[in-house]
Amino acid sequence: MLQKNRDLDLVICGSIALDSVQTPFGRVGDALGGSATYSSLAAAHFISPALVSIVGHDFPKRYLRLLKQRKIGLEGLLVQGKTFRWEGLYEFDMNEAKTLKTKLNCLETFKPCIPDSYTKTKFLFLANMDPSVQGAVAKKCPDAFVILDTMNFYIQNKKAELVRTVKLVDVVILNDAEARELCNEVNLIKAGRQILKMGPKYVVIKKGEHGALLFGEGCYFSAPGYPLEKVKDPTGAGDSFAGAFAGYLASHGQVDEPQIRRAVIYGSAVASFCAEDFSVKNLIKIDKTKIKERYEIFKKIREF
Ligand code: AMP
Repeated sequence: MLQKNRDLDLVICGSIALDSVQTPFGRVGDALGGSATYSSLAAAHFISPALVSIVGHDFPKRYLRLLKQRKIGLEGLLVQGKTFRWEGLYEFDMNEAKTLKTKLNCLETFKPCIPDSYTKTKFLFLANMDPSVQGAVAKKCPDAFVILDTMNFYIQNKKAELVRTVKLVDVVILNDAEARELCNEVNLIKAGRQILKMGPKYVVIKKGEHGALLFGEGCYFSAPGYPLEKVKDPTGAGDSFAGAFAGYLASHGQVDEPQIRRAVIYGSAVASFCAEDFSVKNLIKIDKTKIKERYEIFKKIREF
């Protein structure tokens, strides 16, 4: 049984976007995207998360209906100005997105409105967003186990704020290129250890199709990549990884090393589904049986 409905055990704060994406397998325009969108839809397979985010008045009502249908709490959703838009391109190396355009719009001046009941959450996932905003939200949820994701845009433009925020959190999740860039270090093992020294208890470095590494005090774990043959659009796979990771942990309430290892595998399983189709299409098609099947395949891949 993956899903236990314990409302407000997990709050997710991040971006909601209208994405225009081109890959070698097609393109979409103004599709539902954003770090909070992908991560909350992924987490919703394990628990009912509550969202803290912002959209513009132009945000399609059908997307709001979709989030509501998935039992995602929208009390912390602001509506102001125009929706954040992101344009990305993937060439044959599907591990790397080229950002063509970022129009922050309402995200630029976003001041999260956190309902009182959300501040008591046990788990908080800070999805990709301005690290000063992430830090402010972390401070408002003093009892939460905090998981943070970040990306090149913030490493390049807001590194000092990001390092300050990393000190406040329990888990940092980022991809290989981001870890190298944050630490100015080519070796991922050294980069993982260096980020641990900044303050978090665990660091997860995702390596796209090649799996993920987990670092902790006296802990090292390497998750394999799922042998996926059909990758159409990797957008949001990282956010889905982190959302499923947070959702799984929050649904169990316990954060010891074996649970964190399992959360990495659930994250990898859900991320692999996300990459199989454009936007959130596959994330909303799958169910807990399919996720569990893929989790079991991961176990087999690792056996020797
Ligand atoms: P990923 O999981 O790394 O593929 O994240 C893709 C999502 O990140 C897309 O749906 C984008 O809308 C969103 N995104 C892109 N740039 C930013 C940004 N600067 N801040 C927050 N979210 C972003």
